Amino acid sequence: MLIDSHCHIDFCCFDHDRAEVLNSCRKLAIDTIVIPGTQASQWQKQIDLCHLYPQLRFALGLHPYFLKSFEPLHLVQLSQLLNQHQDKVLAVGEIGLDTHIDVDWKMQLQVFEQQLLIAEEHMLPVILHHRNSHNELIQSLKAKKFTQGGIVHAFSGSVQQANTYIDLGFKIGVGGGITYSRASKTRKTLSKLPINCLVLETDAPDMPLIGKQGLRNSPEYLPEIFESLLLLRAETKQQLLQACYQNVQGTLANL
Ligand SMILES: [Zn+2]
Repeated sequence: MLIDSHCHIDFCCFDHDRAEVLNSCRKLAIDTIVIPGTQASQWQKQIDLCHLYPQLRFALGLHPYFLKSFEPLHLVQLSQLLNQHQDKVLAVGEIGLDTHIDVDWKMQLQVFEQQLLIAEEHMLPVILHHRNSHNELIQSLKAKKFTQGGIVHAFSGSVQQANTYIDLGFKIGVGGGITYSRASKTRKTLSKLPINCLVLETDAPDMPLIGKQGLRNSPEYLPEIFESLLLLRAETKQQLLQACYQNVQGTLANL
């Protein structure tokens, strides 16, 4: 059994064939797919899709990439939805900081930290987005005394950076990036981390695997990411499969 801990299957590029994709995931033993939130206008669609397809589960949050449409009311709505769906929602996310986008840094930081407080208040883990921002994220997690842990999505970085997150209660998201030989630093890191911190994800439709550049990524490719990770690890296939599954279950709420 496999869990895709991060997949934007709510995006409209899946509107025409979502049922087929999910069907094929079921055949590949992918029994749970987590849809992280990106923007307020998308939250209801995520919730509706999870009603429609039992293998889908949702997290709610404001992704830094989409903050151009941000209004302070969205944080109020987020809290309300977390209350309303407290027996279903898995986490607050994806939230984070991104140095590569044209969104005011101060605003990113403010919205990120406010969501950390909301997650702490609701006792929910977070799904973290990073791009060239590990130091700043870690600084905020510590400054806000965040204790709920979560997942660092699409981790890339050093063993030291990974261990800092692990000490803060986080799991390390392993995505399609590891299928590229140029990701040697991250591959090396993933080979050395404790097995109880690893979780799998596709980040579909983004982050295509090697050989699929320019194409829509899909949760159907999760087993290929698993196989790439297996090559880096000393464990048996069964041990790694079981650990990756239980690590998500032990981290996200309501799973
Ligand atoms: Zn994402």
